[in-house]
Amino acid sequence: MLFYYHSSEIDSNMLRWFTGRSAHPTRIRRALDALDEATWSQLVAWHPFLAGLTAPELDTLREHTAWILASKSFHGAHGLEVIPAMRHAIAIQAALPILGLDTSLYHGWTQIVVYPGGFMVPRTEVDEAGVVHEYMMETAGEAWEGGPVILSWEEAQPGQDRRANVVIHEFAHKLDQRTGTADGMPGLRAHPDLDARHWHRILTACLDDFDRRLDAVERAIPPDVDPESDAATPWYDSLPLDPYAATDPAEFFAVSSEAFFVHPEPLARAWPLWYELLAKYYRQDPRLRMQGLNDSHALPHNRNGEH
Ligand SMILES: [Zn+2]
Repeated sequence: MLFYYHSSEIDSNMLRWFTGRSAHPTRIRRALDALDEATWSQLVAWHPFLAGLTAPELDTLREHTAWILASKSFHGAHGLEVIPAMRHAIAIQAALPILGLDTSLYHGWTQIVVYPGGFMVPRTEVDEAGVVHEYMMETAGEAWEGGPVILSWEEAQPGQDRRANVVIHEFAHKLDQRTGTADGMPGLRAHPDLDARHWHRILTACLDDFDRRLDAVERAIPPDVDPESDAATPWYDSLPLDPYAATDPAEFFAVSSEAFFVHPEPLARAWPLWYELLAKYYRQDPRLRMQGLNDSHALPHNRNGEH
């Protein structure tokens, strides 16, 4: 862990650091200064889904990006050196979900761990017979409750044409976890226009509908096509979300959040009420701001696991 404080700042900064709150304003100011015009313009251009943000929105995004850079610590795993350009790219993507919200929603934890590629995590599953299966699975991202966000740089780096976004996915989990266990219900206290029971009803109905759509797609895949292979991609691409969204409400919220920010049209068409709730929660309307921009429907639907 690196500290760049003046000695007078050390006590209060270390306290903030270890409780996972904001870095000292001086440190945030320094991070903002480091995002000079050239660096910032390049960073925005690297992420096509940021096109359409207004100048004031980009100013706020820049401030939130600096807040993340100053308040979170970045660590490379498996020998990866996390250079400034990598930190910047992760921070700007992580800043997008809280563009209309408060940075305090990312309090409570400090570390962002970056692996060069996918990484192995232990998984436990209980089958229908009650037998416990323990195994290792490769993943592109994780968000631990009260702990780090862990990312595969291969998946998190900009410049990839895809409908998925591992950084937004994991930070959506962080928003969800802020009020306790991730269950697809982020805190709505700052949203008097949103009702938790209504949110739960819509979320459950859309997840059920997605389960039905996924079942229909799986039945439609011909027997000579391996559903786990790339050959099955055209069938799954007809779905509004990646099949991983069917896992549980928390994953439905995280995968929906990715689609909402990166490729919103199919999501908004499939479940207008769910899209509307997400737009009210995030206080953004990516579909509206992307209208008139290049059609991105033809992007390949290519992702590894995110959890
Ligand atoms: Zn997930």
